[in-house]
Amino acid sequence: MADHLMTNYAPLPITFTRGEGAWLWDEQDKIHLDALSGIGVCGLGHAHPAVTEAIREQAQRLLHTSNLYHIQRQEQLAEKLCGVADMEKAFFCNSGAEAVEAAIKLARLHGHQRGIAQPSIIVMENSFHGRTLATLSATGNRKVQAGFEPLVQGFIRAPFNDIEALRVIARNDPNVVAVLLEPIQGEGGIIVPDDDYLPQVRALCDDHGWLMMLDEIQTGMCRTGAWFACQHGNTLPDVMCLAKGLGNGVPIGACLARGKAAEAFQPGNHGSTFGGNPLACSAALAVITTLEEQDLAARAAELGENIREGLKNALADCSIVREIRGAGLMIGIELHRPCTDLVTSAAVDHGLLISVQAERTIRLLPPLIISDDEAYQLINITSTVIHDFAATTD
Ligand SMILES: *Cc1c(COP(=O)(O)O)cnc(C)c1O
Repeated sequence: MADHLMTNYAPLPITFTRGEGAWLWDEQDKIHLDALSGIGVCGLGHAHPAVTEAIREQAQRLLHTSNLYHIQRQEQLAEKLCGVADMEKAFFCNSGAEAVEAAIKLARLHGHQRGIAQPSIIVMENSFHGRTLATLSATGNRKVQAGFEPLVQGFIRAPFNDIEALRVIARNDPNVVAVLLEPIQGEGGIIVPDDDYLPQVRALCDDHGWLMMLDEIQTGMCRTGAWFACQHGNTLPDVMCLAKGLGNGVPIGACLARGKAAEAFQPGNHGSTFGGNPLACSAALAVITTLEEQDLAARAAELGENIREGLKNALADCSIVREIRGAGLMIGIELHRPCTDLVTSAAVDHGLLISVQAERTIRLLPPLIISDDEAYQLINITSTVIHDFAATTD
């Protein structure tokens, strides 16, 4: 069946035919608890009526006109998003990688405008920013880069959660114009920095005129128990990248900016044919309205605490578990040994969808709309799968 697809993916042997809330139905009509939400995309769960209705209504009226003309829905979405993110301006694209590409281009323009001919951007070890050439070059994972050299120049690598390393670069490199980082590293294994790290990065950026650019593609849209993860420590970046949860499955990305960064692009500097089209913006507007009306940031914070607590209790006697961590409904369970394929397929057998990051950290990104009972089932099945795995490998 997949004979004519390129071989860049290695999908599990399962196909879903429909979804509702936190549940997916496969071809045999078996139901699965979706604790991954399509990799952090369907925060409102599957087939959310508000999103479905917004798409239906917009599709009946107008799908696309291009950015040669004003787009009312795009202007409304920009205003809404800037409101919740405390930012000033938005650029819309179709994916996370494109949102980061826009941020990289903004940083370089900002550098050139300050008279820096060869601007460089500090990026983190163990980071993930996407699969385009510039974003894989910014990514701190050799597996993502291997075979695609020559990489895009202009990135300086620093260890994550190490403010002293950034201070050393600040003393030695006059060409730095920006720092790009995830507030919590997602693909890298749910790595949560110290509480004071982001505020310290903010202060360093202020001291040196650098742009602080946060990749909130996975952490944003209420996932971590706040609209955006940077808000936990009251840190306001200059540039913020969004995608994943923004459209609940309709492809859309955004690069938000404030201050000088918000003014850097001039007509002709950047663009996207599809970016910010009426359909995608209508879906995103419905997502934001629903997140707001149901106060899902607070709900994600509460559910996240309960689930982490529940997992800690259920796995207290399981010596294979190294740490359970995260924020809101972005949860990592790090094991002492690699577990990638075994655990994901064992979970599928139990009707649970999860992923494993960095070889040994089980990642949970359940929808923000799950009920207390579904959260309870999630704890039960996850801990069963981990207990079983511990038993087979001891
Ligand atoms: C998923 C992700 C991306 C890439 O998004 P795509 O839509 O796949 O291009 C970039 N950064 C982070 C933090 C992500 O989680």
